[in-house]
Amino acid sequence: KDSTYEKILEMNIRAARFYYENLKLNKEKLNYLLERNLDIKTIRKFGLGYSLDSFTSLLNFLKKQGYSEDLIIKGGLASKSEKGVYDRFRNRIMFPVFDYKGRVIGFGGRVLDYSKPKYLNSPETLVFKKGTNLYGLNFVLRNGSPKDLIIVEGYMDCISLHQYGIDNAVASLGTALTKEQAKLIKRYCKDVYLCYDSDEAGKAATLKGIDVLLSEDLNVKIINIPRGKDPDEYVKQFGAEAFIKLKEKALPAIEHLIIAAKNGKNFNEPRDKSRFVKEAVSILKLLKSEVDVHMYASKVSDMTGIDIAVLLDEFKRSNTDNK
Ligand code: ATP
Ligand code: MN
Ligand code: MN
Ligand code: MN
Repeated sequence: KDSTYEKILEMNIRAARFYYENLKLNKEKLNYLLERNLDIKTIRKFGLGYSLDSFTSLLNFLKKQGYSEDLIIKGGLASKSEKGVYDRFRNRIMFPVFDYKGRVIGFGGRVLDYSKPKYLNSPETLVFKKGTNLYGLNFVLRNGSPKDLIIVEGYMDCISLHQYGIDNAVASLGTALTKEQAKLIKRYCKDVYLCYDSDEAGKAATLKGIDVLLSEDLNVKIINIPRGKDPDEYVKQFGAEAFIKLKEKALPAIEHLIIAAKNGKNFNEPRDKSRFVKEAVSILKLLKSEVDVHMYASKVSDMTGIDIAVLLDEFKRSNTDNK
């Protein structure tokens, strides 16, 4: 079993090289990435590639290298149907997924047009477990231990930020950040910035991500990308300095949650105001220190005009209710 594990890792490297060579030979596909503003150096560093528009090209290549069909399927690079065995990834831009040690544990593949699914990832295999990895962490760790980490959603976000010199970005890949990913972060630093897409999915994922990160006792701030963009689009349009300014303006998670709770509520409506106060009080429960509770209760008091003593009373009461 142990040797299967090692064999899949080794096979993945061969596959990544195969995809990379395909990309180099295919100007049109390479152009897709160049037009998305990636330079050759970045493409090399991240080992980006292309899976041919064929059902058996990788399969045949790997078989020639001595890998069995069985192993290729086990490694998630091919699938079996009634009609036979065929390549999982076809006609896609390929992103090798590295673990923190730089081993290729799986792949993501993006279509070059608007067909669906936009991204196809490796299935769970012996070496690829969803939600346990952070894409890009191996590159972050090359520069020593990071002061802080920036968590983004997608491959392109992470790669673009690195290209622009923001070399502490990692991607959670998919929307929901997991407890295991939070624990992985904690091994390297205490300060994290969440920087998800500013679309509805990204906003919802931010709220969930905050919960997960706070429950691991991390210091969490939220980078707010304006106008429906994602970090890749933002840094491409406005540059690294503008992005770093956004990072400097990042709000502590608690403030972000309080503002999110206020969103869409009209404080002239007693019902809205009362709902907000209840939500705000339950947000205060995420705080670990008494001092912080006071500080944020005072902010909520300023926002609503409700006496801080009343808020703290409600806070204590809801705490005992929960016990
Ligand atoms: P691009 O810039 O190439 O369009 P993106 O990263 O902005 O990609 P999003 O739609 O914002 O794309 O998705 C964020 C991330 O979620 C992707 O990078 C990918 O890791 C993951 N993802 C997106 N679509 C799918 C999908 N259909 N299946 C699995 N994962 C997906
Ligand atoms: Mn999105
Ligand atoms: Mn994008
Ligand atoms: Mn996006």
